[in-house]
Amino acid sequence: KKLGIALVGLGTYSTHELAPSLLETEYCELTAIVTGTPEKEKLWAAKYDIPKENIYNYENFDTIATNDAVDIIYVVLPNAMHADFCIRAANAGKHVICEKPMAVSVEECESIIDACAKANVKLSVGYRLHSEPYTQEVKRIVKEKTFGKVNYISAEAAYLSRGNWDQWRFNKKLSGGGALMNMGVYAIQGLIYGTSELPISVTAQEFSTMPENFKDTDETITAQFEFPSGTIGNLFTSHNAKADRLYASCEKGWYELDTAYTYGPLHGRTSEGTEIKFPHKRQQALQMDDFAKHILHDTPNKVPGSMGLRDIKIVKSIYKSIEEGGKKIAIRL
Ligand code: NAD
Repeated sequence: KKLGIALVGLGTYSTHELAPSLLETEYCELTAIVTGTPEKEKLWAAKYDIPKENIYNYENFDTIATNDAVDIIYVVLPNAMHADFCIRAANAGKHVICEKPMAVSVEECESIIDACAKANVKLSVGYRLHSEPYTQEVKRIVKEKTFGKVNYISAEAAYLSRGNWDQWRFNKKLSGGGALMNMGVYAIQGLIYGTSELPISVTAQEFSTMPENFKDTDETITAQFEFPSGTIGNLFTSHNAKADRLYASCEKGWYELDTAYTYGPLHGRTSEGTEIKFPHKRQQALQMDDFAKHILHDTPNKVPGSMGLRDIKIVKSIYKSIEEGGKKIAIRL
């Protein structure tokens, strides 16, 4: 039997990525939806053959507990709503996938983890790249030290997010922050799997070239990290630039992903002149199947809740450095 997934929040990501991916998954399938927009109910029911009894809104959401067609609840709402709905999903006795960034505070991330542990359900965060082959190849290169130790790593994750200034991403109450909370977490991830180390300190700077528009959330952030082995890391994230790259200079060569964080296919090359190349499959299908296999067959959870919490701790250290005028902050994970 395929595990049944309920998508909570039918915005851009659910509509254009997750739902189509669930048509390609082997171990799970879309069985239910949770939406606050009644017009979407009919559209989705027809398109994905969802029976009326499997359609919920935000008010009656908790009654999903008695629905055996739902095994996993995937929360795809604005960041500040993740904790509430993930905790309610766990309390309903369902396994949980929480979109990235996990939540807007360390305490919220911890509450989600606690609720899932108490309810004895599995928890994952929507970091799709851990199921994606180019990213696995980078992890292999780093682990096997193909080019020796990483001396310097640069992670740039940015996109032009201008125009719709009313959207929740520019509202700190709903997003918890700007570029750093949106694209910056990919760069943090890249720095970590691209070195196989956790950072121990950060120095960060914030820049605003359009303060009249980016009133409430960060537009551009740069940050420099130190790692235990002496590796230096550089992060760039922005809502007002285009960048999508992971580059590492190692003792005996280098590797690069460019693009590194898109929905794929990614592009990669190394100093040996080889191109990293894999067949393309929807990353989200691979990601959701990996989580379903974890539930069904006890395979490793590639993205446990602790990883989402870890990244929010790093995000908070970056913001703290900025608040303190670029002071070096020790990262405690
Ligand atoms: P979106 O704005 O397109 O959709 C948000 C959904 O939440 C909409 O259906 C909206 O109706 C609903 N919603 C409920 N209450 C709301 C409120 N108070 N304000 C605004 N919307 C409200 O956003 P999205 O791009 O689908 O992002 C949703 C989540 O998915 C975010 O956490 C985002 O970071 C994450 N995301 C992850 C990836 C990825 O690659 N893993 C990609 C895109 C988005």
